[in-house]
Amino acid sequence: MSGETLQVYFLGTAGALPTPSRNPPCIMVRRGSDTLLFDCGEGAQQQMMRARCGFTIDAIFVSHWHADHFLGIFGLVQTMSFNGRTGPLTIYGPEWVNEFVQTLKNVARFNLKFPLEAGEMTAGSWVRFDGYTVTAFAANHGLPALGYILEEDSRPGRFNRERAIELGVPPGPLFGRLQRGDSVTVGPPDNLRTVRPDDVMGAPRRGRKIVYTGDTRIVFQQIRDVASDADLLIHDATYDETEKDRAKEFFHATAAQAGEAAAELKAKNLVLIHTSSRYPDPQLHIIDAKKAFSGPVIAPKDLDMIEIPFTPD
Ligand SMILES: [Zn+2]
Ligand SMILES: [Zn+2]
Repeated sequence: MSGETLQVYFLGTAGALPTPSRNPPCIMVRRGSDTLLFDCGEGAQQQMMRARCGFTIDAIFVSHWHADHFLGIFGLVQTMSFNGRTGPLTIYGPEWVNEFVQTLKNVARFNLKFPLEAGEMTAGSWVRFDGYTVTAFAANHGLPALGYILEEDSRPGRFNRERAIELGVPPGPLFGRLQRGDSVTVGPPDNLRTVRPDDVMGAPRRGRKIVYTGDTRIVFQQIRDVASDADLLIHDATYDETEKDRAKEFFHATAAQAGEAAAELKAKNLVLIHTSSRYPDPQLHIIDAKKAFSGPVIAPKDLDMIEIPFTPD
């Protein structure tokens, strides 16, 4: 469906260790009435309260099994059960997600009141939602790790009302049929003509797209086909340039590399995330990222929200 709001809440922006003002990674995407989590670090529930975005989660996508990315799931699942959830919840993630979900069920000494399911993802696998798809790609983090792409279906092209009238289509129900993709027949019985949707509809308009890399070294060469032209590229920017060697050693990216990835992938906006607790001020990260990327660079604070508007036609 078109016309849905698309909001991204940065509930946790820290890397590895929390700080007094920043939580481990947790990104909530709300599209229309759907709410998805990408990673769910420790303390996610209180961030949800602070952001006033509720606890009703439709699916959780975990990028990899380092504790800063999943510890929040335990408490969240208990709360959803406590609140009377009955519908199933699927936790998606790379290999070990089945063991994780089983472990979660095993350690829980509360009566889980809803089905908890595991969805194992590999590079290229996808999950279909109403109006959009979440697709996984391989990150490079020294263990099985995935990034995720949320992409909306394309919207039908714009209807050219004047052209339709010119072609003899009277305003009314026939307009709707053309907009739904059906051809219509118009004109007097001795001169019937067919008007096709292509005659009066513009090119399809692409949906919005969010790319979340999770923890990774830069991988833009490998993901160009699927991850280009994102409205929002949310990229690992754990380190600054002085720690470039450390970034490589620990399978992370620097802010400058995130900028390079954003330029290569033609992202519209770059979001720097998973910033190490050693950097109290992300401004230097932004300066680093802008060396390669000329678009907007955002280093969100916890609880910041970005609303992604429709792509202008
Ligand atoms: Zn991490
Ligand atoms: Zn990690």
